[in-house]
Formats: sequence, structure tokens, C-alpha cells
Amino acid sequence: MPEPVKLDILAIAAHPDDVEITCGGTLIKMAKMGRSVGVLDLTAGEMGTLGDRTDRAEEATAAAEVMGLAYRTNLGFPDSAVLVSQKNRLAIAEVIRATQPEMVLLPHWEQRHPDHRICSELGYDACFLAGLKKLDLPGEPFRPRKIAYVSYFRNDRHTFLVDISDYFEQKCEAVRAYHSQFGNPVTAKHIFQPGLDIFDLMKTRGGQLGQLVGVQYAEGFSLKELMLVDDPQHLPVRSI
Ligand SMILES: [Zn+2]
Repeated sequence: MPEPVKLDILAIAAHPDDVEITCGGTLIKMAKMGRSVGVLDLTAGEMGTLGDRTDRAEEATAAAEVMGLAYRTNLGFPDSAVLVSQKNRLAIAEVIRATQPEMVLLPHWEQRHPDHRICSELGYDACFLAGLKKLDLPGEPFRPRKIAYVSYFRNDRHTFLVDISDYFEQKCEAVRAYHSQFGNPVTAKHIFQPGLDIFDLMKTRGGQLGQLVGVQYAEGFSLKELMLVDDPQHLPVRSI
């Protein structure tokens, strides 16, 4: 595990390349704003049809550099067999204590891949447990203030959208770092049903969300709690 650093934002995902595809633009934007941004991948993605554990690890490191991450680590849980267990909750809670992120990004709970759905649940549980003073776990008790759920293309209701227009190309570059997955345009089409090119998918989805709020590209997020507004008159996005 790399030396822990104090983070502003920690994105937790099941497989290397999940964060790049779903919220890479937002992570790049936050890093450019001077925030300390980290990623925790739960598995090495070894069950993917293309590439192996070593390829994916090297590609994740290269993508981290493109995104300007301050921290990235991998817990090595078995791919496609991520389970809700106290052992797994505590492994994630230990990273949360070590990096103390104010905000945690988790996969949205509506998912096609079971690892993504379980990562969402494990991540929430770990945020809660990390704050328990009597928990037998290394590090100081710490609980993130905010959890936002990242859209994985499955859900179409979002609490807020982030404008990533200026960072869309860089997001594509981070995804392109996964040569084993997306380097060959023929085999890459087998990863996302129904035979979609990942870059076309990100462009279509990002563009569609962007259009809803008057920008070129956006990424979608959900909250489980309500948002509190101080000044309703200056809410962004035109109504008419
Ligand atoms: Zn995944």
C-alpha cells in the first residue's frame, strides 16, 4: 500500500478503469482545482476477458498520472466475487482512516455488475465503521462528511451534474491508458453491451447530461440526503 496522504476526495470502485469511465472528468477537475484526490480500487480486474492483473495495475498507475491523483491503492479483493463481509468493510475503513477524505465517491446502487453494487454497500458501511471510536482498527476514528454516488450509465435520475467540458479530452486520455481493455477497437466493443465503443458511450452519455444543464459534457451523481440551499435566487441552470 502506498504511503497514505490526507485526501479531500476518495473515489472507491470495484475495478481499475471504473472511476476513469464514470467520474474521471470530475476527479481531474477537482485535482486541477488543487484538491487532493485519491482512488481505492477493490479488485485487480483479473476476471476481465482482456488483459491480466499486471497489465491492469500498470494501466491504473498510468491513468492515475493522467488524472493527477495524489493517491491510488488496490485492496486485491477477488474480481467478480466481492462480498459484503466485516473483513472487507474493515479493509476499506482502514484506508478511510489513513487518508481522511472529506468526501467519498461510491458507485450508484443501481448496477449491472454485482461487484459495483456491492462496492456501493461496502463503501457506505466502511465510512460508517471508520468513525467508531471503539473499533479495533489501526488509525484515528474518522468519518467522511459527504458521500456522493456516481452514475454508472444504469440510472437516469441524478441529484446533481458536474460540468466536465474542459476535462473531457483528459478523461478520454485516462481511459485510453487501459490499453489491454480499449487499445484494440475490435475487442474493446465486447466490453460494453451492445457492442459499444467506450469513447462513443462516454461522449453520448456525457453530452446528453451536459445538454440538460447547458454545457457540453457532464457527469451525474446522486445523494441519499437532500441538498440545502442558502440563496434560491442564484441557483445555477436556466429554467427557460
Ligand atoms: Zn467495473
